[in-house]
Amino acid sequence: MDLTKHAFFEGKIIPLGEANINIATHGFLYGTAVFGGVRGYWNEEKKRLFVFRPYDHFYRLINSGRMLAMNIPQDENALTQLLLDLLRIDGWQQDVYIRPTIYKADLGIGVRLHNLKDELNMFVIAYEPYVKNDANAHVTVSSWRRIDDNVIPARGKVAGAYANSALIKTDANRAGFDEAIVLDNNGHVSEGSAMNIFMMRNGQLVTPPITDNILEGITRRSIMEIARRELNLEVVERTIDRTELFLADEVFMTGTAAQVVAVTRVDYRNVGGGEMGEVTSKLRTLFDDIVRAKNPAYSDWNVGV
Ligand code: PMP
Repeated sequence: MDLTKHAFFEGKIIPLGEANINIATHGFLYGTAVFGGVRGYWNEEKKRLFVFRPYDHFYRLINSGRMLAMNIPQDENALTQLLLDLLRIDGWQQDVYIRPTIYKADLGIGVRLHNLKDELNMFVIAYEPYVKNDANAHVTVSSWRRIDDNVIPARGKVAGAYANSALIKTDANRAGFDEAIVLDNNGHVSEGSAMNIFMMRNGQLVTPPITDNILEGITRRSIMEIARRELNLEVVERTIDRTELFLADEVFMTGTAAQVVAVTRVDYRNVGGGEMGEVTSKLRTLFDDIVRAKNPAYSDWNVGV
């Protein structure tokens, strides 16, 4: 991580190396923070960096904060402008990953949400692939369960809840899998450690509904729209059973960091023919062009720096 790059911290843009919080900070002690994960894509032909759906990402961040009684003065438009300033200062000419966080910033002990001040920060790093094996991932069904809306809201990105994702991811990786699929407390498929899930079954593209304890994924929403508009697919949000993953023709996972990951094996069983399926392959290509601002039909999703 390059600490000379800039960050927004306590109201100012300063070098990342100087953007440090105290060890007694509430958000650090109790995980009372919410965050986002946004990406900027370098377009080589246009020699320009484009941020993908920043307004939607910041809107979700603000909503994640609202669930933890957080208020910040900026709306999604102001946060997008702030991000553009931050990106321009360092003149990034490569794919980047942006991490905004809102956190309970008071110092001291005492677990609660009220009567605490909220701070926003944001930093940018060079992008590194999240799932290396993204063309034929082997995933397992985790023995951990997904946090429930009545435990910690899963629809938003609450920092403390990522201990759940970390348990899921580490056990999967240590057992030799690329990623894990986690079931909710009713035993239904929810999502991955940091990715939403889709399957092709009986000609339909199926994904769990938000009410099955998944993050309101922005890649998920984008892929649903692209599949309908470009591939004329019927896209269905319904509860998915674990064993349907064995019967599906195709399975893939989506996320800002991971993009579209083809899942070709689930717990040692081939998905479909055991290779990346046609729909997954088409969606990967479409998505990559769209995020890099190469498809004018989706230009309202690309914000140029
Ligand atoms: N689920 C979880 C738990 C995540 O952390 C992420 C990554 N933000 C996703 C799904 C994918 O969401 P998005 O497409 O908005 O990045």
